[in-house]
Amino acid sequence: MSFEMGLKSKYQILIAGRLSGPKNDVILNILQKTGPLVVQKIPHIQFQVVGAPVLDTHLNLAKKYSWIQFLGFQRDITPYYQKADLIIGSGRVILEALKLKKPVIAIGECRYIGPLLEKSILTAQQTNFGDCDDKEYFDWDLMAEDIIRCLKKFKLRTNIISNGYKLLKSEYNSQNVEEKIEHLYNQTIFENNLKKIKELPVLMYHQVFATQPEFSKFHLNITVSKLEEQLKILKFLKKETITFSDLFSKNVSPRSVILTFDDGYENHYRYLLPLLEKYQMKAVVYILGNFNIRKNFWDIPKGECEYKLLKKNQILKMSKSEFVEFGAHSMTHCSLPDQSFQKIKTEISNSKNHIENLVQKSIYSFAYPYGNLNEKIKNYVKKSGFYFGVAVDSGPFKFTQDLFEIRRIHVFPNTSAFQFIKKVSGYYLRYRMYRQKFHPSTYLRIGK
Ligand SMILES: [Zn+2]
Repeated sequence: MSFEMGLKSKYQILIAGRLSGPKNDVILNILQKTGPLVVQKIPHIQFQVVGAPVLDTHLNLAKKYSWIQFLGFQRDITPYYQKADLIIGSGRVILEALKLKKPVIAIGECRYIGPLLEKSILTAQQTNFGDCDDKEYFDWDLMAEDIIRCLKKFKLRTNIISNGYKLLKSEYNSQNVEEKIEHLYNQTIFENNLKKIKELPVLMYHQVFATQPEFSKFHLNITVSKLEEQLKILKFLKKETITFSDLFSKNVSPRSVILTFDDGYENHYRYLLPLLEKYQMKAVVYILGNFNIRKNFWDIPKGECEYKLLKKNQILKMSKSEFVEFGAHSMTHCSLPDQSFQKIKTEISNSKNHIENLVQKSIYSFAYPYGNLNEKIKNYVKKSGFYFGVAVDSGPFKFTQDLFEIRRIHVFPNTSAFQFIKKVSGYYLRYRMYRQKFHPSTYLRIGK
């Protein structure tokens, strides 16, 4: 092996991240703007990129520059981290690299952070290593200088490693660093999402029918064509349908909306799932933890028609689709405030356990049957490991103010396209509150 001026014969820089959306833009910029400057100074270098999807743009770039290599998606990225001299990325990539005591340069979707040194640690933490910030900040020339300095200066690399490792240790002194990293990472993402979201409309639906039924006691339904029209409106408005777990796992768009469907009817499998697949949109479906309950027995005595609930195999098929997330809706659809505390506890925590055991995924949210709740119930939902509790007509008008009493917006069979646009605008609940407060009929007695 030959060494020149204390430099290694061949350097490997690893860039890890999604090759789509804003992450991809950043990676392409690094390769096109920063890479050539680095290669001028250090010709024996290779930039490896782990991530998918590798498209023609990427392959053409690799054809143009022999020092670029796209490795596609890698299930186990650790060996690549270990081989690399320097790792470039954000979020989880940085945390994993630090755990392996590798030097890192942080750059996220929103800004360039640079080598993880004392002066940059705070910004790095606050922005999730560059992924979340109000303004964009990139400096491709500076990045090239930083990469060259890192590769040339052993001391700088060790400095980054010790700073990073100190950061990891101070944040987590437990044995189980892996889990803690995951947790901190998710928590950071979640907090940033909450900061970013001004309002997150959570819509409430129940049944989905092929055609409008002749009779319905509670009018808790929507037809396939109407729902399809609404999904199209969401697409047109560039709204992103997300689920509750998305808030922990990715940077969600400020234009996000959550669609929820209560009770888990068979018609959700038959009509909702195909629509979600067709439009690549997501929904949260609330089901009972008692899978022996086969129909909406709680509504039938009140005069509603009988409808079948989802079977286990249908739940499983829906859960395997990336477009459905299940939430818990108690065990037996009872009004929780009317029950003993012991019964409340089993209704809440058993529903979570049973559904998690069936779908083999964490259940993030709980829907209070009939929207009936009190503080004790809310606290128990939180204590049981849920992250969210969705109500019906109660709770603050802003999503982030009480994650265990999230007010939902009804969508009715006759909700017009215009009303629907208002409902998903993000201002609907506050608008309604003001309208109630200031409507002439409430202070001049001229209303009907
Ligand atoms: Zn219900």
